[in-house]
Amino acid sequence: MTETKAVVIGAGIGGLALAIRLQTAGIATTIVEARDQPGGRAAFRRLEGYTFDTGPAAIADPAPLTALWALAGDDMAPAVTLLPVDPGYRCHWPDGAVLDLADDEALRAEIGRRAPGDAAGYRKLRDHAAALRREGLDQPFADAAALLRAAPWVVRHQAWRSVHSTVARFVGDEKLRQALSFGTLLAGGNPMTANAAALRPGSEGEAWCVAGGTNRLIAALAALFERRGGTIRLGDAAVRIETLGDRVTAVETASGWRTDCAMLGANCDMIHACRDLLAGSAAAARTAARLERKRQAPSVFALHFGIKGTWPGIPHRTILFGERYEEALSDTFGHGLLAADFPLFLDHPSVTDPSLAPPGCSTFRAFALVPHLGKFPEDWRRIAPLIEQRVLDVLERRLIPEVRERIVTGFSYSPADFVGDFNAYLGSAFGPEPLPAEGTWFAARNRDAAIGNLYFVGAGAHPRGGWAGALESAHSAADLMLGRG
Ligand SMILES: Cc1cc2nc3c(=O)[nH]c(=O)nc-3n(C[C@H](O)[C@H](O)[C@H](O)COP(=O)(O)OP(=O)(O)OC[C@H]3O[C@@H](n4cnc5c(N)ncnc54)[C@H](O)[C@@H]3O)c2cc1C
Repeated sequence: MTETKAVVIGAGIGGLALAIRLQTAGIATTIVEARDQPGGRAAFRRLEGYTFDTGPAAIADPAPLTALWALAGDDMAPAVTLLPVDPGYRCHWPDGAVLDLADDEALRAEIGRRAPGDAAGYRKLRDHAAALRREGLDQPFADAAALLRAAPWVVRHQAWRSVHSTVARFVGDEKLRQALSFGTLLAGGNPMTANAAALRPGSEGEAWCVAGGTNRLIAALAALFERRGGTIRLGDAAVRIETLGDRVTAVETASGWRTDCAMLGANCDMIHACRDLLAGSAAAARTAARLERKRQAPSVFALHFGIKGTWPGIPHRTILFGERYEEALSDTFGHGLLAADFPLFLDHPSVTDPSLAPPGCSTFRAFALVPHLGKFPEDWRRIAPLIEQRVLDVLERRLIPEVRERIVTGFSYSPADFVGDFNAYLGSAFGPEPLPAEGTWFAARNRDAAIGNLYFVGAGAHPRGGWAGALESAHSAADLMLGRG
């Protein structure tokens, strides 16, 4: 009897999770990854003793990861050390106001001090978000009939509202509204349009990071997969997916390696898979055209830098809000303008884990969402140095005096890099925009409509986006591939 073989294209978090699930279920699985390291957008670089993670700086919910290890008959704890990130986020405004998002009790106390009139509203907001989850309204519906059945709850809970408008229903203080709604930005979603189902008020307050950096978690996942007998081919991009009729039959890589497969999981950008790797397939061209019509999430401009000195007063994660909030989001998501005052995220992982920088030094990453290349088709090689200076101006003015003189090493990462490194459509840092109000209701397709053994996995293949979406999509895709869906 020939064994069932699966290929997963891409070793992002979604691809790794899918491959572990398949391999654990007895499907001989090979991952082909274009880059020389696994992790996809959760990549890393080491420069002059500094470790720079280029993806998420913290994990909001480790439960799906521990579940993955358990499924593979293993324990995550010896492989990955999680450190609490405290506070989970610090919110910082131009007038010097600061609000720490920590655990629920601490946040309630902080709200009681700063905006006592909103204490009751915050409690109601928490209850409201919990009710949405309890009624299953945070899950996409399988079909129109399921949505119809849930319609009374949708109406009762006003679940069609956006994240920001829901927060604003309960909380009056503008700063608090910003602090409780910005979380969707981390997965590329606009709080003004992302559906209320994404609401986890204050959840950014509870977070963990991985000792040694997020890259250690990725390495541990890759090792788990290989221990179960899976194979990873790094630095060998898929260049062609062969089909016969409505079936994928084989995959070929840049090195000339080729393998037959019974099923294929595409963790790479879905449009890249359909348009480039399946070139010649009319069905795939139709899927690519459908995907291209979807709204894409913005890109990211990130500046990674290692500096002299330690900064115990700057927490692991800070969001520096600008003068405008709603308007800056519209500029980026809607008008394709480079907003000078878009919220700036500042990560400082070495404050939690000093091993990420040489002794007496610190590792930082500042990033802002910027329009994708479809809305803002600029030459980023030309403008990156200008944006870099803008970012440093803000940091110097608000948090790190004389930052330029202290920088030892660093690099910036722009929308053009997302295209070059990940084949990302329009250089989006996140793929299709997660949870837009009109697209929330139905489950993303993890199986291609026309090519029966082609499956999609990753942040772009789940309405939630981000790591949570990528991990959930791996679960759904594996169920379908294993005949459990
Ligand atoms: C600065 C930044 C901060 C972020 N912070 C957060 C956060 O706090 N929380 C959160 O949830 N999310 C965050 N994200 C988003 C998160 O990193 C991504 O959503 C997630 O990592 C995507 O994983 P994925 O499995 O979908 O695919 P990807 O990571 O995109 O992986 C796809 C893989 O496919 C490979 N590939 C592409 N083409 C080919 C080919 N032809 N052949 C072989 N391989 C190929 C790529 O090299 C890549 O490794 C952040 C992203 C960025 C950029």
